[in-house]
Amino acid sequence: MQPRKLYVETMGCQMNVLDSELVIGQLTARSFALSDDVSDADVVLINTCSVRAHAEDKVLSHLGALRRRKQRNPDMIVGVIGCMAERDPGGLVAKMPHIDLICGPGELNKIPAMIDELDETRRRVIALSQSQSRRSTALQRATEYDSVEALDLSRSACIQDHPTQAYVRVQRGCDKFCTFCVVPFTRGPERSRPPEQIVNEARMLVDRGAVEITLLGQTVNSYIHQDSGRAVPFSELLSRLNDIDGLERLRFVTSYPGDFGDDILQAMRDLPKVCEYLHLPVQSGSDAVLGRMRRQYSVGEYVDLVKRAREFVPGITLATDFIVGFCGETDEEFADSLRLVERIRFKNVFVFKYSERPGTVASKRVTDDVPDDVKRQRNIALLRLQERISMEHNRTLIGETPEVLVEGYSKRAVKAQEAEQTRGDEIGHEESSQLVGRTRTDRIVVFPGDIRLTGRSIKVRIKAATALTLHGELVDEDGVARMPGRLSNRVQIGG
Ligand code: SF4
Repeated sequence: MQPRKLYVETMGCQMNVLDSELVIGQLTARSFALSDDVSDADVVLINTCSVRAHAEDKVLSHLGALRRRKQRNPDMIVGVIGCMAERDPGGLVAKMPHIDLICGPGELNKIPAMIDELDETRRRVIALSQSQSRRSTALQRATEYDSVEALDLSRSACIQDHPTQAYVRVQRGCDKFCTFCVVPFTRGPERSRPPEQIVNEARMLVDRGAVEITLLGQTVNSYIHQDSGRAVPFSELLSRLNDIDGLERLRFVTSYPGDFGDDILQAMRDLPKVCEYLHLPVQSGSDAVLGRMRRQYSVGEYVDLVKRAREFVPGITLATDFIVGFCGETDEEFADSLRLVERIRFKNVFVFKYSERPGTVASKRVTDDVPDDVKRQRNIALLRLQERISMEHNRTLIGETPEVLVEGYSKRAVKAQEAEQTRGDEIGHEESSQLVGRTRTDRIVVFPGDIRLTGRSIKVRIKAATALTLHGELVDEDGVARMPGRLSNRVQIGG
């Protein structure tokens, strides 16, 4: 019998990328075949994000296109999984009655059984964690979300796009209840996984070829686990993971500025595998706005944390998130955000225009009163400022030879190769063999090279820079340029 074809579309954050990978692992273990072509799929799952209205609009548009496909092929299963499924299952079904399966992020381990049930009954199946309200007790909420642990524990070593990089979840949910955010409602309360489970999972991934592991948590630095009556903090978890033989790099996202202790900065300084990079969302440069967002730190405390991070970890780079146009944000409050960007000089910033999310505290208590065009202008102003800063940063790196972990072909090379294949276009060797990698400080570097370098840490001399990307050439350990496509004897290539 032919295996059934599975197509998974993933939107949103790294947590969703990992969830999709684990769902794919569960289904391919049950003889589904993963397809990258939605048009011949038997099961289509859309893993959704609810953080912004725009992300939900995109899901609805995908589902609209699938309705026509489902009319032609009624046996096709259409599933919506993740945060949007948890947030508004009734609204989804009302708008898109052709959905067969709805599954919240806390119930993803049930998907194989849900598909079995669908096959048998042909009736829509729904699995949600019921805790939509913070009025539930902590125990109720934790119990309601517990069953999803099985998803991480079921992990096979299937690593998707980048065979040498892997995500490992250390924590689920969030207890912060920032007023703009749906995550505590869709992913439940904060629960930290046992450290031995995390270390075993990381060790398995390294044994199967991963050299870089990124630890995931909504507020990853808040990780704490009671282990035989003793609390294991995040810094200790980093230390245990640092001991894994064969692991080269350890990263973690996303950190919450209010919970960042010096023990983690010390670990970043002392543990050689922990990279010198922090994603530390600030959201606003105004204390008044941070108060309305119910972020549990002030701008002064954030600046102090950055100062300490730079003292403990010389050369560390910082990325951040801003929300512009949050309820009541005045011109002066926005100017505070611009001043903060000038002051901190981030490596990069991710800017989001505020969009009200139903059910959040902000949607009930404050008014989304900043006009759209003002949000748009503030978005552009912040990005322009950061672009100048990133450009200035990156230019200072020209002539340096940082260590780069190779991830594979660059997007441009992949496009060039596709053009070669589909249209027979003549593409220069340099363009189609361009590789991409990252420095320990999370800077993106492209350079011509041999694809067999993927997963290797190599030296690249930086020759040019844009705001987003560094361009370089491979050098050997003596700093001598190496010809692309030829490998030094010193680099052992497996296989
Ligand atoms: S810390 Fe705030 S923004 Fe981050 S996931 Fe929790 S509630 Fe959402």
